[in-house]
Amino acid sequence: QEDDFKRVISHAKEYGYVFQSSEIYDGLSAVYDYAQNGSELKKNIREYWWKAMVQLNDNIVGIDAAIFMHPTTWKASGHVDAFSDPLIDNKDSKKRYRADVLVEDHVAKIEGKIEKEVAKASKRFGDKFDKEQFLATNPRVVEYQEQATTILKRLGSSLEKEDLADVKKLIEELDIACPMSGSKNWTEVKQFNLMFGTKLGATTETAMDLYLRPETAQGIFVNFLNVQKTGRMKIPFGIAQTGKAFRNEIVARQFIFRMREFEQMEMQYFIKPGTQQEWYEKWKENRMKWHLSLGMGQDNYRFHDHEKLAHYADAASDIEFRFPFGFKELEGIHSRTDFDLSSHEEFSGRKLQYFDPETRESYVPYVLETSIGLDRMFLAVFSNSLKEEELENGTVRTVLKLPAVLAPTKAAIFPLVKKDGLPEIAHQIIEDLKWDFNVIYDEKDAVGRRYRRQDANGTPFCITVDHQTKEDNTVTIRHRDSMEQERVEISKLKSIIHAAVDM
Ligand code: ATP
Repeated sequence: QEDDFKRVISHAKEYGYVFQSSEIYDGLSAVYDYAQNGSELKKNIREYWWKAMVQLNDNIVGIDAAIFMHPTTWKASGHVDAFSDPLIDNKDSKKRYRADVLVEDHVAKIEGKIEKEVAKASKRFGDKFDKEQFLATNPRVVEYQEQATTILKRLGSSLEKEDLADVKKLIEELDIACPMSGSKNWTEVKQFNLMFGTKLGATTETAMDLYLRPETAQGIFVNFLNVQKTGRMKIPFGIAQTGKAFRNEIVARQFIFRMREFEQMEMQYFIKPGTQQEWYEKWKENRMKWHLSLGMGQDNYRFHDHEKLAHYADAASDIEFRFPFGFKELEGIHSRTDFDLSSHEEFSGRKLQYFDPETRESYVPYVLETSIGLDRMFLAVFSNSLKEEELENGTVRTVLKLPAVLAPTKAAIFPLVKKDGLPEIAHQIIEDLKWDFNVIYDEKDAVGRRYRRQDANGTPFCITVDHQTKEDNTVTIRHRDSMEQERVEISKLKSIIHAAVDM
């Protein structure tokens, strides 16, 4: 697993997807830059989300609020008082960790053991293997599951009660060692606020203390009535937004899974109080469908319903994805009640109520939220797509099987040789295709090498111009995943590519 993850990180760098930020100065921890291919993949994921949420829902609109917000926003939202993580230091290695994540990683190891048992049994029993039954009856597996559940319950309840001494006790009881040094010499657990502070204004006397937003949601809440009125929106309706958020995360590792500067894609759905259960179920289902539409395998997703709820929620579930380091949260679906709007009413002294034209009543709407990290989605897509395939001739090819709709480059155009007018024809094809798709030209090395380069880059199609092209205006088009090649007319290329890559 660790090797798989290392391969993901080095492939992302080698093929121009993700670089460490400020690398020439040895980088900045948990901050990354998206490179020439990565920025395209990220943009495509963002668009895929935006289209599904905003364009295809006639009652959801999008906004783009500022990163800076009035500081009272963060008092009202609860972030000043409650947006902190339990922090623990290892005395020997001087490394700092999130206490809850140390425990969760311990649980992930137990889950890894369960998966190993399942894989073993599935091999042993072949077609006859019944996973559900195995999970329910195999004594060892049942015991692992019980261990995992007990630990998570205990963690949840101590965090809820803010009983940090008990979290420390749990770490000791589980005999958890520092991942860096193996030392078990831990400090007490303390709360640590994750917001980054900064200042607005030039003089020290007049400067105002601000925070960089730790989530995009509050930009939507404070604009709720502006959007509702100017858009003449009727409940239920949603407001969507994508944008940067900042958190001074304690566990700064796992590549782009947990970053200090990251991007969120959030949607707040404003509903009538009392209908939250129904919308919670609907949005869980909708969001899972969106994930599955990318074809990355149903087995790689699961819901994790929360027992421990944040201060603003009356129900919450995560969509977890099988990352190279195990199942982890990819998206959250939260039933936020009227917590945010009511609190902003209180702190701002302004009414944030919806007037229902039919019943002629005013009320503070409830909110159902879907919140996904764009960078985490990027990691899910990228890591799941990277495959090493053994070919019939015994060689191994590295291929990035990105969903075609998300691939940064849709087609590469090659002249078979650098002469006889073939490059000119290839360039003509590019001139025609580039208005619809990102395409690139490549004439270097043998065609086989060029195929491999595009495989590793995730390009779904390679188009080769050869001598026959001059006779009959046909080219070969090679499919990345099947490696099959077909001969097609140049005039058909656009529709073939559109059919594969359009949303
Ligand atoms: P975690 O428990 O992993 O810290 P969270 O529960 O704090 O996440 P939310 O506040 O619900 O996360 O944020 C919604 C989404 O934003 C998460 O599901 C995740 O995809 C993304 N996200 C949150 N924190 C980060 C981060 N530091 N780096 C990248 N993505 C993040």
